[in-house]
Formats: sequence, structure tokens, C-alpha cells
Amino acid sequence: MLTLLKLLKDGRFHSGQALGASLGVSRSAVWKQLQHLEAELGIPIHKVRGRGYQLAAPLSFLDADEIALQSSGSGWSLQVFDSIDSTNAEALRAIDRGVPAPLVVIAERQTAGRGRRGRKWVSPFAENVYYSLVLRVDGGMRQLEGLSLVVGLAVMHTLRELGIAGVGLKWPNDVLVGSKKIAGILLELVGDPADVCHVVLGVGINVNMQVAEKVDQQWTSMRLETGRMLDRNRLVALLGAKLQQYLDRHRKSGFAEIQAEWEAHHLWQGRAVSLIAGSSQTDGVVIGIDNQGALRLNVAGVEKTFSGGELSLRLRDDS
Ligand code: ATP
Repeated sequence: MLTLLKLLKDGRFHSGQALGASLGVSRSAVWKQLQHLEAELGIPIHKVRGRGYQLAAPLSFLDADEIALQSSGSGWSLQVFDSIDSTNAEALRAIDRGVPAPLVVIAERQTAGRGRRGRKWVSPFAENVYYSLVLRVDGGMRQLEGLSLVVGLAVMHTLRELGIAGVGLKWPNDVLVGSKKIAGILLELVGDPADVCHVVLGVGINVNMQVAEKVDQQWTSMRLETGRMLDRNRLVALLGAKLQQYLDRHRKSGFAEIQAEWEAHHLWQGRAVSLIAGSSQTDGVVIGIDNQGALRLNVAGVEKTFSGGELSLRLRDDS
């Protein structure tokens, strides 16, 4: 089915006959496949009598060779999927199978993209980047301290370099433009964090997405911010380079060396917030983060520190 889509990707008209000849199937089989594509992937396809079929807008696909060409030799192996439940889930399966790390898994779409605590990451076909990097960690807890914040910085710098000037961070793991989410980060860990473990660094970036009815909070995409289509292969290559640069720094010097830089990009420094942990809520003012990436809040005049994967920050109305 995707072979057919790839034949149409230029956004020009292609006759049913020519498409059928390329695929070795009948014209009616082409028509059926196109109907299926529209229904399954939500891609609008125009049909004009006498001219054939045309995508409503041209598509470009993820391409391992193109990404390798634009990457400056990270040495990370790359797996590209047309469709997968979740790139993080596939990365975890690869760890189970004993595939050596570092390994990057990317996909054109996710049918069950994940956020934190069972939430969903909306992942339409061929519009965004869904990226998971598997790392082997054998340096104990220190190598995990602040890791999701480090990934956030790498993502933020990638987007800045591609023209998204207003992008910043929200503790612990959101990448925002103003109050709109442009990227999300989900770390998942297997093994013994005190000894040897594997960590999956999952990143979802909204690239060319312009409509997403199912996203239930404010969001934006690189295209909405710049008014231009972005080359996702270039983005994947650049993200790899930035991740490599920040992960190297983190491995060599620990999170303490990155703390000040992260704080400088924290959009909610000094803001009045509520910190939510399950059903409990703590109100305070953001002081910053500590040298392990934990959040420091001024709570009624007393400084308190919070860390853990189950915490969410919300702005208070009086902020
Ligand atoms: P927190 O503040 O706790 O991090 P969050 O709502 O940002 O909360 P995440 O787990 O980081 O939670 O991300 C999942 C949420 O992100 C979803 O519940 C949805 O509201 C939103 N979301 C889902 N898909 C997208 C997307 N493609 N772009 C922007 N936001 C999305």
C-alpha cells in the first residue's frame, strides 16, 4: 500500500493505468488501495476523470540513506518503520532481542504513541518525527540524573537551529513555544539502574502537522510556527547530532554542568505553579532546578525539592 503512496508523493497526477502498471495490479485494485489509504492514514487523495489520482499535498518520507548522508557519522544504527505501535515499544522489544545499543527507531506513524502515565501521543502519518534512542547505561545512577532534561535541551536546540526562535522548556520534559506544546519526551528504563540498564529516550516532535483534533491541550508545530514545510530527514540527522553532543557532556561532567543552561531556558522560572502528584497538589513559586534536575519550589517561604516521574506542573491563575 505504501509503495503506491510513494508513487504519488510528488503531488502530481498519475493515471490509474500507470500506477497499476508500476505495481503489477489492475486499475480497480489501485482504486481499492487508494480508498484504503484515505481511510487508514487519513490522507486526502483527489480523483479527476481523465487525469488520474493526485495527493492533496505532496509528501516526503523518512529515508535512512538521506539521514545517514546528513549525519556526521554518529555510528548509531537506525531502523525506519512505515507504521509501528510506538517507537519506544519497538525500542524496548529491540533491547529484549539483544540488539546492540546505541540504536535509533523512527516511524512514519505510531498507532499507539505514548505519553507519560498511559497518556497518548497523537502521531499521524508522514507529518512528524517519532524517534526513540536506545542507550546502554553502565555508570550507575549518576548517568541517569537529569537525563530527560538533557534530552529536552537537545530537542530545543535542534528546533532553534531550524528556525523556531521562541522554543523553551517546561519542567520536567516538555518543549513549548509560549504555552503550546511542540515536542514531548518520554524516557523508559529497563534493567538495574544502579548497575547496568538500558534507557529508551523517546522524542515526539510536531513538524509539518497542521490539524490535530485529538490533541487535548494547546499545541503547535514547526510548520505552524515558520509557515514552511520542514525536511524531516534533516531534522532527524540534526537531532541525532545534538543528542550526541549533550549526552557526551552529561556523561563526562554530569548534570551539574548543564543545570544553569537548562534553567536559562526554563519558561516557567519565577512563575506561580501547582505541582500535581496523583491527587495531591503543592502550590509554590519556581526557584529553578538542583544539580540532579529536581524541581526547586518556594512553598510558603520554604524551599522544597521535588523529583520523580509522576509529577506534573501547572501554571496557577495568579502566576
Ligand atoms: P505533564 O505536564 O504531566 O508533562 P502532559 O499532558 O504534557 O503532562 P505528556 O505525557 O508529556 O503529558 O504528553 C501527553 C499529552 O500531550 C497528551 O495527554 C496530550 O494532551 C498531549 N499530546 C498528545 N499528542 C500530542 C502532540 N502530537 N503534540 C502536542 N501535544 C500532544
